[in-house]
Amino acid sequence: MTGSYDSLQVGLSVLIAISASYAALDLAGRVTATHGWARLVWLTGGTISMGIGIWAMHFVGMLAYNLPIPVSYHWPTVLLSLLLPILASALALAVVSQEKMSPVRALLSGLVMGGGIAAMHYVGMAAMRMAASVRFNPFGVFISVLLAIAFSLAALWLAFHFRDEQIGVVVKKLGSAAIMGFAVSGMHYTGMWAATFTPTHRTPDLSHTVSLSSLSTLGIAAVTLLLLGLAILSCDVDRRFDGHSVELRSSAEQNRRLFERSLAGMYRATLDGRILDCNDAFALLLGYSSRTECLSNNAADLFIDSTEMQKLISQLKEQTVLSQPVLRNVERCVRKRDGTQIWVLENVALVNSHGAESPTFESTLIDITDRKRSESERLAETRRQAEDTVDQWQKRMELAREAGLRIGLWDWDIVNSTVVWSDETYRQFGFSPASFSGKIEDAVARIHPEDRLRVEEVIRGVLEGGSAYAAQYRIVRPDGSTCWVDAHGILARNHGSTHMLGIGIDITNIKKTEGSLEEAKTELARVARIATIGELTTTIAHEINQPLGAVVANGSASLRWLDANPPNLNEAREAMARAIDQAIRASEVIARIRALVRKATPQMQPLDINQVIREVLTLTKSELLKGEVRVQLDLAAGLPAVPGDRVQLEQVMMNLILNGIDAMNKIADRPRNLIIRTKKNGDDVIVQIEDSGPGLKLEETSLIFEPFFTTKAQGIGMGLSISRAIVEAHGGRLWAAASAHGALFQFLLPVGNCVV
Ligand code: ADP
Repeated sequence: MTGSYDSLQVGLSVLIAISASYAALDLAGRVTATHGWARLVWLTGGTISMGIGIWAMHFVGMLAYNLPIPVSYHWPTVLLSLLLPILASALALAVVSQEKMSPVRALLSGLVMGGGIAAMHYVGMAAMRMAASVRFNPFGVFISVLLAIAFSLAALWLAFHFRDEQIGVVVKKLGSAAIMGFAVSGMHYTGMWAATFTPTHRTPDLSHTVSLSSLSTLGIAAVTLLLLGLAILSCDVDRRFDGHSVELRSSAEQNRRLFERSLAGMYRATLDGRILDCNDAFALLLGYSSRTECLSNNAADLFIDSTEMQKLISQLKEQTVLSQPVLRNVERCVRKRDGTQIWVLENVALVNSHGAESPTFESTLIDITDRKRSESERLAETRRQAEDTVDQWQKRMELAREAGLRIGLWDWDIVNSTVVWSDETYRQFGFSPASFSGKIEDAVARIHPEDRLRVEEVIRGVLEGGSAYAAQYRIVRPDGSTCWVDAHGILARNHGSTHMLGIGIDITNIKKTEGSLEEAKTELARVARIATIGELTTTIAHEINQPLGAVVANGSASLRWLDANPPNLNEAREAMARAIDQAIRASEVIARIRALVRKATPQMQPLDINQVIREVLTLTKSELLKGEVRVQLDLAAGLPAVPGDRVQLEQVMMNLILNGIDAMNKIADRPRNLIIRTKKNGDDVIVQIEDSGPGLKLEETSLIFEPFFTTKAQGIGMGLSISRAIVEAHGGRLWAAASAHGALFQFLLPVGNCVV
């Protein structure tokens, strides 16, 4: 008995086969990609739809074969034939979703699956109830089973290959599905071909059977295709969602990996200080062995202090970067698990994550304890060095005090015009820390009026950019006492401010000693002058006697002219005038001597040095006469005035002239000449006194200026040393040299601007 194939139904069966294959490939991908419950759902759904698909293909294919006799189907057997492809599909999906597929496993799975499908086919055929017997051609059966196994193996291989769901595989998948669909159909139709239907007259057992019309076949095909379509659609939708979530997951995983592997500590905490998450680096930072230990031990209690947190929150509110509150680089000290403290550099952000009830902190931090320690060690070292320096300075000051030096320190803030003093400076100025305002002008007010202008000048120099300060001045204290101070300062720029740091040395005692020395020198010079004047007694007597004699003679003459009869008034008047002149001359001599003897402080004034020389010659006239010395004057005309003290310079001239007279005392073989010369030499005026005495031996030229050096029996050896001191006090120089005939003494005096 031969039947015929309904071509529509055959086509449908092939379409179902292709759809089922496509669904199988898709479902394999889903099962592999999902986990847990989702995987179970996909496995179950996939198994059922694939199983139904395979079964429907077969069943529709079977229905497509029209026998000339009515055929019913025993539905329990049909159900059994449905169960078999479902089981085979379950096995197939489970196998292809495994991580690896070994050839042995693939072969075994292919055998089982192919066997299952072949079994489905023949069980399905066994459900046929009709008035005919079925005989199977063993070769055809063998081929169909072989095809079933080959198809299963190919299906497994393709499903395993496409399960990773790479993009752009749809066309390949479709092609594979088509091959598989034709293969499964081929297997079915080979199986059908292996069967031979022979009519019998036996009435078939129609219990538990259903007869299916062409419409029913179409219904089964439509439902199956719908089911497979739905399966493919769900796969696609799920894959899209899954793709998105895979992306999200992979980015979250990347973030998580970064979070976990970061060497910087990271944590997330609620605003009330509960740590929600942290990484290992954070845990290690706080002294925990792991993140889990850190989280379970509630590290926040140690780490986050509530006031600290409030501080951070308020700082965060002030600093917002791109509308997100972010606080960068906060340095804070935190406590570790063992109680020790560490310094961390923290970067905090306030995060309003979606779905979270309240904002959280996200923070990254690194341990900067070592840096802080070295910073503080460096600071401590600097401080120690400064203290050492101060200490050493104090010791030096102590030494200075012991040595009788009183050094005050001051620090003048130039910008603010204030000054800070040490105790000694307070003492020098006669202030106490309570009574001094600290203002520079109040200090300057205590400076002696004669020195103040000079000091103000120096201060102005500093304010105008000078870098050093040096001044000597007197301070007049409120009790009237005076303190001489020698002050020196240097400029120091510190943290943007400009200071003059200085010292003030109390030099009152030095000044006093200098004063006494000066007084002693003046006194010594006076004594020396008196001694010299003693030597001039004859001259003085002569100088005074002469005019006195003239006064007496002219007075007598005047009386005579008056006594004459008639009195000659004119002659008497003239005689009286001469007497008065002589009296004036005598009084001048006395006045000059008085001036020399007078105890007076030096008076500097512009002097005509030629005039000074002439006056001294008047005083020494008698000595010169007595010593038979001839004076030659070679005085330059129009010499500039030199600043000097008349009495002192007369003393110098007198010493040099008298020494010359003394030196020539024993000279008998040649004229006793004293040449006195003046001349201008650059900015100086030079005075030379040259005699024709025995002269000076070379070794004596410097010795003779030593105090108390004398070669004379009645000499005291002070004349030359005092003369040199006087000339030097005038800024000049006095020296001696041997000349052609005797000794040459000369001194020069600077002209200067002669303002005195
Ligand atoms: P005194 O005149 O009391 O000795 P001086 O200081 O004036 O003291 O002189 C010191 C010495 O210098 C003199 O004793 C003398 O030996 C030497 N002396 C000074 N003037 C001359 C001179 N014109 N010629 C040679 N020797 C001189």
